[in-house]
Amino acid sequence: MKSITKLDLQYAHRFYGFKGEAQYLHGHTGILTIEVEDSVNPGVNMVFPCNEIQKTAWDVLKNFDHALILREDDPLLPAVLDVYEKQGIRNGAPSNTMKGPAFKTELATAYPECRLVVTKETMTVEGMIKIVYDLLKDKLNIVKLTFTSGVNAASEEYVPKRSMDRCPLCGIAMDENGVCPKCGYRKA
Ligand SMILES: [Zn+2]
Ligand SMILES: [Zn+2]
Repeated sequence: MKSITKLDLQYAHRFYGFKGEAQYLHGHTGILTIEVEDSVNPGVNMVFPCNEIQKTAWDVLKNFDHALILREDDPLLPAVLDVYEKQGIRNGAPSNTMKGPAFKTELATAYPECRLVVTKETMTVEGMIKIVYDLLKDKLNIVKLTFTSGVNAASEEYVPKRSMDRCPLCGIAMDENGVCPKCGYRKA
């Protein structure tokens, strides 16, 4: 069975080099749907608690929320960084608190201190799915990701990798020692 959760991300981007309106900087509310598959955990009668899927995903993905997403070769990138630098917000601001851990993958690098994500490829809905899967594939048993943004939507399905050992009391993944990180339940 599957557990399905949604989260939204508000971001600004543009398609550098694209011949259309999208070559200009603009914003979206993107909606990401994450589908996780596993057996139904008999203790809690669920695959995985949806709020925990959200928490795990949001921890990383909050770097995309209220963020500017630019391709690495976009000339706006040095220009924006220069303005942030001069304004004194390049390395953070007291009001910029919704920061996840900085990350760097093949496809994207997050600079949470200035709410910027630099991507290797143009950040289309398809591009976002590739980035998100890469960031979350080792944390969740993802079988499908869907990302919609305005009239654009894309989805991709994945073969489930393994079954996770989950706590029979609260449903979340057990740690490597067989202990629940949330309630402390220990496997007999
Ligand atoms: Zn757009
Ligand atoms: Zn537990």
